[in-house]
Amino acid sequence: MRKKVIAGNWKMNKVLSEATQFVEDTKNNVPSSEQVESVVCAPYPFLHALVEKAQGTDLKVAAQNMHFEENGAFTGEVSPVMLKDLGVTYVVLGHSERRELFAETDETVNKKVHAAFNHDLTPIVCVGETLEQRENNETMSHVEDQVKKALEGLSDDQVKATIIAYEPIWAIGTGKTATSEQANEVCTHIRNVVKETVSTDAGEAVRIQYGGSVKPANVDELLAQSDIDGALVGGASLEADSFLKLAEAGAK
Ligand code: PGA
Repeated sequence: MRKKVIAGNWKMNKVLSEATQFVEDTKNNVPSSEQVESVVCAPYPFLHALVEKAQGTDLKVAAQNMHFEENGAFTGEVSPVMLKDLGVTYVVLGHSERRELFAETDETVNKKVHAAFNHDLTPIVCVGETLEQRENNETMSHVEDQVKKALEGLSDDQVKATIIAYEPIWAIGTGKTATSEQANEVCTHIRNVVKETVSTDAGEAVRIQYGGSVKPANVDELLAQSDIDGALVGGASLEADSFLKLAEAGAK
């Protein structure tokens, strides 16, 4: 059984007092990490405070991005060494907003995935198609390409430890969720791609989240699908109550 992962992606929202209040309200109320991994993906300036606040609890803290180099002349960037030093344990890589708005490429995503493993951070690697690609029947080939490029050069064990988030871009922040069948179809394809290109074991072990307008009202149905092992949630993760409901759904 693959353990589910519920990750709340706050994006560029909240100020420090709101972020710490959220962790205060959720850290002792999330289900046990034996049942589900509950993760908040917070903006950089909050990470130190949130990791300290959540220490010793079942709530884990992620960054939403990072650079692949360890240090150097990269003004404005944050390195994996810095994240690890703070006690951050997960990092979101290749979110579609970073790909679309900040020139993230498959190549930089792959470098970042390697950097994450070199520093003992669990990568949550995002893939997904645009509406146009879906309408042109390019969903499977596009997502397959993104997955192969993101995982290139990783060992079997590293792939097993990777979390892939399938997020159809047309479903992000739009209120349009893919139906659970649509979501599962792509997640199954991703798993098969991993089985074929890495190993059967790695394909069985890799966890695949769905993301795109997930909320407490639709999470159960999505998580009941054969190849969906969790959710990456934007809007519905901003309120503690809603995040807790999602985490509880992951523990069922
Ligand atoms: P959403 O965002 O839940 O607000 O659609 C998901 C995401 O971008 O990770």
